[in-house]
Amino acid sequence: MNEPIIGIDLGTTNSEVALFVDGQPRLLGEGSPGSPILPSVVGLDDNGVLLVGETARNQLAVHPERTIKSIKRRMGENTTIPLGDKDYTPQEISALILKRLRDMAQQALGCPVHKAVITVPAYFSDAQRQATREAGWIAGLDVVRMINEPTAAALAYEAGRNSRKQVLVYDLGGGTFDVSVVRIEGDVVEVISSHGNNHLGGDDFDQELLDHILDELESEHQVTLPPNSPALGRLLRGAEAAKKVLSDHPFVRIEEEFLTERQGVPFHLGMEIDRTTYEKMILPYVEETLEAVHVALRDAGLTARDIQEVLLVGGSTRTPLVRERLEEIFGQVPRGEVNPDLCVAMGAAIQGAIIGGHPGTAVLVDITPYTFGTRALEYVDDRPNPDMYVPVIPRNTPIPVSRSELFFTVNDGQESVDVRVYQGEHPDVRHNILIGQFHIDGLDRKAPAHNPILMRFDLDLDGVLKVSAMEKATGLEKRITIDNTLAPMGGARLAQAQERITALYGNGDEAPADQEQGDAGDHPDLARARAIIAKTQGLLNDVLEEDREDMITLVAAISEAMTKGDIAALKQPLHDLSELLFYLET
Ligand code: AMP
Repeated sequence: MNEPIIGIDLGTTNSEVALFVDGQPRLLGEGSPGSPILPSVVGLDDNGVLLVGETARNQLAVHPERTIKSIKRRMGENTTIPLGDKDYTPQEISALILKRLRDMAQQALGCPVHKAVITVPAYFSDAQRQATREAGWIAGLDVVRMINEPTAAALAYEAGRNSRKQVLVYDLGGGTFDVSVVRIEGDVVEVISSHGNNHLGGDDFDQELLDHILDELESEHQVTLPPNSPALGRLLRGAEAAKKVLSDHPFVRIEEEFLTERQGVPFHLGMEIDRTTYEKMILPYVEETLEAVHVALRDAGLTARDIQEVLLVGGSTRTPLVRERLEEIFGQVPRGEVNPDLCVAMGAAIQGAIIGGHPGTAVLVDITPYTFGTRALEYVDDRPNPDMYVPVIPRNTPIPVSRSELFFTVNDGQESVDVRVYQGEHPDVRHNILIGQFHIDGLDRKAPAHNPILMRFDLDLDGVLKVSAMEKATGLEKRITIDNTLAPMGGARLAQAQERITALYGNGDEAPADQEQGDAGDHPDLARARAIIAKTQGLLNDVLEEDREDMITLVAAISEAMTKGDIAALKQPLHDLSELLFYLET
């Protein structure tokens, strides 16, 4: 075997190491218990013994004087940092982290490792790059290449796919934010422009939540925590955990037993925060990142319309508000299927494989190819529409996944709700596939309208979807299990899909009645869309299951864009469907 070339993401908050094995990049070793993530923190314990990673991070709050974090921010500076009774350069501190990563790799592989690809931010100067190279050298690593982080992310998503596109890599981590416009041509990836903020990230979100909790403690319970108290550290960790829950669920309960004492009596904290309240707190930070997005686009001489895809990197991009705002700007759902914490390390491993002469291929992930959701009532111009589709798990979400959303009863004293579960992409449930249905009865008859019902969807790797509905106030719950939701389309479902397409567009390339007139109906992309859908219909019976699924999904996306008259959103699925048809015909 050739000597392995590991890929390292040397991050401000966390670092990871990966290697390309059996055609896929794999993360190596455990940086913190149960996870390949190594906190980029170095320290000395009570006895002067070196700590790297999780153990060093755990003592950060109590012993900041002998713990060093975020050393990446100092790289390239001509300075030293005290640790114990000695001073160290930033390269030396970084080398301790790299050495630990190298050990993790050697242990996982059972062989020595000398070569590495290390990633650096696109904005790093020559001095910062040189310092990183030196750190590698001190750690006993030959840094065979340094690549930009957005380049690594683009490789993780696209390597080996022979694609040609311009993408925007949006990277929001714990303490830093970067956005880059990147051009991909096969395995050649070029950063065209880059912008960001070295002091903005998920840590700010945690702090906002913590401040909110502290305010509430003071105003509701007259409890004030002294600065530097261990209770504060506990609450900050609780805030971060709560933030993560809010990415998948509409509210979170924060419980901290024996947080402190109030008038000599133990005080237990129990409070609820909903996503809307949380999003108000973090909106200014998210808006700031979007301003940087516009700067990066302007520097590249491009507009949002020139970007074919938005790739998400960094743990904080799991925040729904971030995804929603990006979708509004770019008119397309950003891609986040490659684990955002590990994406850069995996891209570095792919680059290592390419240098080592192995063809690098993009990361394979288990995702749901369909959206799953439910039905709700909405009012359009004061008229009720009972068929609004509310997606709960959007397509391309990595599985297994668990998501929940809150819904509300319509009438005073409403005792039951008819819950319907659909698979599909159309905003009107009647164009989607009904895959399950149940009633939840016996709701609190004294409750006025707007009684909250929590719907939860759990989808596992085998395609088993569990759906539950719970009356939030009483805990009354009803659930169903639906098997085979990811099974390839066949028989009845295929017939249903064809019916839907025919219902929308008629047979042949005639425009549907409601789109024949008006400005939007005359747009050349719409005419193209109709023609291509007609062609797709003719081919559906003669293609492989997996191609058929792709075709149906793309037609659904096109139909959604056409229904909305959204020409911008039409572009990508239309392009993808043309490519697919071209490939099928050749
Ligand atoms: P990174 O530096 O890329 O590892 O990102 C770390 C940041 O991502 C930290 O601020 C985490 O709290 C944040 N993060 C991780 N998972 C989630 C999640 N599910 N929702 C929101 N933020 C998250």
